[in-house]
Amino acid sequence: MGKILIVDDSRLIAHVAKTMLTKRGHEIIVAQDGKAGLEAAKSEKPDIILLDVIMPIMDGYEVCEHLKEDDSTKEIPIIMVTSQAEAADKVKGLELGALDYVTKPFDEAELIARVNIHLRLRELYEAVQEQNRQLQKMANRDGLTGLYNHRYFHEQLSQDFLRAKRYNENLSCVLFDIDFFKKFNDTYGHQTGDIVLKALASVVQRATRESDLSARYGGEEFALILYHTDGPAAYEMAERLRTMVESHEVQDNGNVLRVTISLGVATFPHERIHDSKELVDFADQALYKAKDNGRNRVEVFDD
Ligand code: GH3
Ligand code: MG
Ligand code: MG
Repeated sequence: MGKILIVDDSRLIAHVAKTMLTKRGHEIIVAQDGKAGLEAAKSEKPDIILLDVIMPIMDGYEVCEHLKEDDSTKEIPIIMVTSQAEAADKVKGLELGALDYVTKPFDEAELIARVNIHLRLRELYEAVQEQNRQLQKMANRDGLTGLYNHRYFHEQLSQDFLRAKRYNENLSCVLFDIDFFKKFNDTYGHQTGDIVLKALASVVQRATRESDLSARYGGEEFALILYHTDGPAAYEMAERLRTMVESHEVQDNGNVLRVTISLGVATFPHERIHDSKELVDFADQALYKAKDNGRNRVEVFDD
């Protein structure tokens, strides 16, 4: 079943088509001229448009061109309606982006078959588009934690950095790493380690704002981009995350598991930070300092 827009200046032709298609359970909207057809295409978002070629003021070709120029209507399949005598015109409609044509007077079986084919093709096309969106989403994500992955983090940060530089905005980067995670794995096993990584990711999501970006940077290392966030605010956020992780308990097979993290913070603007790579490098230096200074702590670059 589909929603079909019929654009035809002839009430009779529109009525005949409407009757044939309504019987098959389709929902029909009729527009009596090109302009009304364009408006209905935008407001009603039909699944398919049956478009008469010969109409006064704005003919079907012009309507077709306008539909194809507009992002909100360009994907709607168009079937041109021509008379037997307009044989050469059929090609013109196809060249302008119509997918098909039907001739009038309508052969009922043919009209139904063509409409159904194009509805089916549209469904398939939409399913492919949806699949592509899902794949795109997955390509940016880390499989274990669902956080963004390393590649996406860098892509995003390099764009964000340029914007922050241009508009003179604060931009902070936090890198953190689980403390003594090798020992944890050696004690509880790698699979239990994975459970803890996932649990950590959900703590991160609770600790950050929806607008922040969280990524799994490497094995047991994570990265955050904090937008419009200056040094003190980034430190505060990092410290809050540290205490949340420290007090978070994961129950697994009768074991109560805990880990701690060490965090490094760097913030733009800073006299020594000129690009996104330096921002990450300096957050990493701060992270090393946090490890050196005893772990389970936050260090700020150049503090
Ligand atoms: P430090 O406090 O200095 O960070 O010590 P560490 O033991 O955490 O650091 P090290 O770099 O020596 O070891 C990292 C460990 O993280 C080793 C590795 O088994 C573990 N790891 C990395 N990726 C994964 C993963 O995907 N799953 C699990 N379970 N463990 C991982
Ligand atoms: Mg006409
Ligand atoms: Mg570690």
